[in-house]
Amino acid sequence: MAAYDYDLGVIGGGAAGLTVVSGAAQLGARTLLIEKEPALGGDCLHFGCVPSKTLIHSARLYHSLKSCSRFGLPEVVVPEVDFCRIADRIRAVIATIQKHDSVERFCRLGAEVRFGTPRFVDEHQIELDGKRFSARSWVIATGSSSTPPQGSVLQNIPFITNKEIFTLNRLPASLIILGAGPIAIEMAQAFCRLGSQVTVIQRSGQILTKEDKDLADGVMEVMAAEGVRFLLGAAVTAAGTVGGQQELVVATQAGEETLRAETVLVAQGRSANVDGLGLAEIGVAHNAGGIEVDSRMRTSHSHIYAPGDVNGRFQFTHAAGHEGGVVVANAIFRLPRKVNTRWMPWCTYCDPELASIGMNEKRAKEAGIAYTVWTEEFAGNDRALACGAGVGKLKMLLDEKENPLGVQILGPLAGEILGEWVAVLNGGMKLSTLAGAIHPYPTLTEINKRVAGSWLSPKIFSATVRKGLKLIFQLQGSACNPSSRV
Ligand SMILES: Cc1cc2nc3c(=O)[nH]c(=O)nc-3n(C[C@H](O)[C@H](O)[C@H](O)COP(=O)(O)OP(=O)(O)OC[C@H]3O[C@@H](n4cnc5c(N)ncnc54)[C@H](O)[C@@H]3O)c2cc1C
Repeated sequence: MAAYDYDLGVIGGGAAGLTVVSGAAQLGARTLLIEKEPALGGDCLHFGCVPSKTLIHSARLYHSLKSCSRFGLPEVVVPEVDFCRIADRIRAVIATIQKHDSVERFCRLGAEVRFGTPRFVDEHQIELDGKRFSARSWVIATGSSSTPPQGSVLQNIPFITNKEIFTLNRLPASLIILGAGPIAIEMAQAFCRLGSQVTVIQRSGQILTKEDKDLADGVMEVMAAEGVRFLLGAAVTAAGTVGGQQELVVATQAGEETLRAETVLVAQGRSANVDGLGLAEIGVAHNAGGIEVDSRMRTSHSHIYAPGDVNGRFQFTHAAGHEGGVVVANAIFRLPRKVNTRWMPWCTYCDPELASIGMNEKRAKEAGIAYTVWTEEFAGNDRALACGAGVGKLKMLLDEKENPLGVQILGPLAGEILGEWVAVLNGGMKLSTLAGAIHPYPTLTEINKRVAGSWLSPKIFSATVRKGLKLIFQLQGSACNPSSRV
């Protein structure tokens, strides 16, 4: 008789947990999944990527309608946005994707799904609704939540987070957003485009602080021109509700300012969902950043794994999926597979998008790595110009041996353009191959070929090569002397 009820128990049915469950169950492991919400899919499907990208698309179309005269079209007067209809569309898109994350699908794959909030009673056993379930290995994939403003003046006012913003029943006339990370920036532009008066309050002197300042400033310039107000180096010192509006007193370098808005969105960071799991009692080490894991996603108990947002490393759906795959290799195949995050890509879906893979200048400097930067502007990309999207640039960083360190792209559909770099860098392709590969014209991805070409061309068109060709083939040199032209 088996010593445990299950081979594998998974807590949390989001990107990380579902990746593990799907892999483990299909490989024949007796698998239990426990989810606290009434539906599977996690933050990404219900309160994150899917609703935010759906909202952003509506906002982008509405913005295009309002600015269509830029493209030689007749000016149109567009009616105000009915946010309920956008929220309905968000719900419809979620419902379509939900089918892929249904209980029936995971049951068909061979997993048992239960709903509720479990608590560890020992290293191999949890309690759920008064019943105990044991498993040889456990996976804690409970994700993260918007960090609550504990002990802060914000506790005096009602505020919303990513859990509420996609189901508002009206468009806020004014919106204050606290924080300037990817979620805050995406929402600031989308709500501004839909017609809200948006102010972003950020503690530090830069938005999107992980990114290089020149690119983050590029995003800020575009958004400021569209009407978003930014208060950088600013801290909220008092908050209250006045006449149905939220009032914030903000200390800035220029002095104190009082702001009022209908709605306040808190997007100042994420904390791991670990409350109530009983981790301290069973000795799973965790800190303010999340559950501590090694590169195989093992916690301080080697049979308990913690992939995804809950470990606080990379908080992206694709990272959660990658880490979930590593857990399957370790827990089911018993292979010592490690996460490989060297080429972890990501994208902030503002317009223009800001996409990144590998090192940027900030991270290279922090690591003390010498680098050179090769830049191409979208102002030199014919497709971008045809589409009225010639703002932004691509930065390619090379190390001293001219090996790629990373690529950063601020520009139209930068996340899609980055896809080619995902293949180039993971495949270890030579830059000369990229420079020589035929790209269809006119496309935005030509910028990738261009930057590789700008690195390669001084080597091909060098004085030494010219001298050698002259010698071997008796080439006659320049046919035009600009100073002697009449
Ligand atoms: C507004 C927003 C936009 C985003 N946009 C993007 C994007 O464009 N691209 C991208 O890559 N990432 C994006 N993210 C991040 C992405 O959503 C997360 O990185 C991803 O969801 C992490 O997956 P996970 O499985 O670790 O956690 P989750 O998806 O959050 O899943 C955790 C699951 O565990 C459950 N759970 C929690 N506690 C318990 C408990 N005690 N018992 C049982 N179940 C529990 C939760 O209900 C949830 O279903 C966005 C996030 C937000 C908030």
